[in-house]
Amino acid sequence: MAGYDFDLFVIGGGSGGVRAGRLVAGLGKKVAIAEESRYGGTCVIRGCVPKKLFVYASQFPEHFEDAAGFGWNVGDTTFDWSKLIAAKDAEIARLEGLYRKGLSNAGATIFDSRAELVDSHTVLVRKTGETFTADQILIAVGGRPNPHLALPGHELCIVSDDAFHLEKLPGSILIAGGGYIAVEFANIFHGLGVETTLIYRGLEILSRFDRDIRRHLHQTMEAKGIKIICKEVIENVESRSAGGVVASTSGGRQLDTDQIMLALGRNPNTTGLGLENAGVETSHNGAIPVDPYSRTNVDNIWAIGDVTNRVELTPVAIHEAICFVETAFRNNPAQPDHECIATAVFSQPEIGTVGLTEDAAAEAFGKLDIYRAVFRPMRHTLSGRQEKMMMKLIVSASDRKVVGAHIMGPDAGELAQVLAIPIKAGLDKDAFDRTMAVHPTAAEELVTMYEPTYQVVDGERVGDLGGI
Ligand code: NDP
Repeated sequence: MAGYDFDLFVIGGGSGGVRAGRLVAGLGKKVAIAEESRYGGTCVIRGCVPKKLFVYASQFPEHFEDAAGFGWNVGDTTFDWSKLIAAKDAEIARLEGLYRKGLSNAGATIFDSRAELVDSHTVLVRKTGETFTADQILIAVGGRPNPHLALPGHELCIVSDDAFHLEKLPGSILIAGGGYIAVEFANIFHGLGVETTLIYRGLEILSRFDRDIRRHLHQTMEAKGIKIICKEVIENVESRSAGGVVASTSGGRQLDTDQIMLALGRNPNTTGLGLENAGVETSHNGAIPVDPYSRTNVDNIWAIGDVTNRVELTPVAIHEAICFVETAFRNNPAQPDHECIATAVFSQPEIGTVGLTEDAAAEAFGKLDIYRAVFRPMRHTLSGRQEKMMMKLIVSASDRKVVGAHIMGPDAGELAQVLAIPIKAGLDKDAFDRTMAVHPTAAEELVTMYEPTYQVVDGERVGDLGGI
């Protein structure tokens, strides 16, 4: 590292940055890492982890209801929001501690400060005003919620970051957006007893998911009591004299609500980062374009995670970090593999998915065999709940490869993780058919759907008798 203060300076202490910093420090290199907020980043501090804790909290009312069918009398229940927040905060603090410990045990120098680029080898640590030089620099600053500045009254709305620290649970909420965050929080707030409305600009929520899943989730959410308005947007937000806010929509509605949450995507966190000082190019939305090895247009500067706008998911950022370390510090060039990434939406019911949707597969392969099962999970035979589970396998007819799997129902995320292995490995449907079922489980449907439910030929469904 001839003459530099550090071999590597990592800007951003989220999942990707911390993993890279820890691994490189573990190789005996001199590593610095700077984080302006808290170590752990979006996922741990204000994303996946606290969100999942909230999901668990919001599921209890249904568990209490379901218990009656199994002979339990749960009695009166109450919910204490501040107790949940305190418990969540304690867990997040514990996890943040582990992230810091991992870094310090590996020997990294930790800065609790914003850091900015001064030139291609120099980083300014804002808190102290000190500058440090580094041979290699990794930008892993993530993203932040889109504040929708064009919306009059946007400053009266909250974003997901704020939802984790509300002083009190609102009586009602209007959530704008139809993606992961909007759908997950609509279910969380509804489960916690908040009157919830979701407003989405498109025809159907979750635009990037399989159409049957989207429709089925929409119906199930509405049946629970969540109001969903599609093909409309909020055009104006004003405060009400009586408290709360009123949203005017493109469909001419006036929606009175205690709170509005905007969940309209996330923007790369590159404003004021000094990228221009180092000659690092950005795209129109501020994301940092990188080559297949996560290298920016400047030779010694790399970028991973959400800031690159490739796939905004924690495990992807971690995978990119590992590949970066192999490439830049272990003389083993490694490209992150972004094909066939399994993902879950922690809606209620949950969604788990891997591979192509029916529509994307129809475009890629022409003729498809679709295997679809819709059934009432065993638990609900006694609970009396009417919710159905759905499993769908998309098979390319020409070579029988399973190219997509889509699940909605209990533990769908867990199932998607396991299904990601055979689908990533390119197994065909016959391998699924040869696999013995585990009984009684819901997942046994995945290996016992022997006959296609319908085919897709030239983009048209043939033989679909409906059923969902
Ligand atoms: P998404 O990209 O999932 O959804 C954004 C939503 O906002 C879409 O429905 C989009 O509509 C809509 N939208 C965007 N701009 C506007 C606008 N100007 N007016 C009206 N609607 C608009 O983003 P999220 O914010 O939900 O989440 C950010 C990312 O974080 C996700 O992409 C995901 O990768 C990650 N994440 C992952 C989770 C998980 O793994 N479970 C959980 C939460 C987040 P349209 O669909 O029509 O474009």
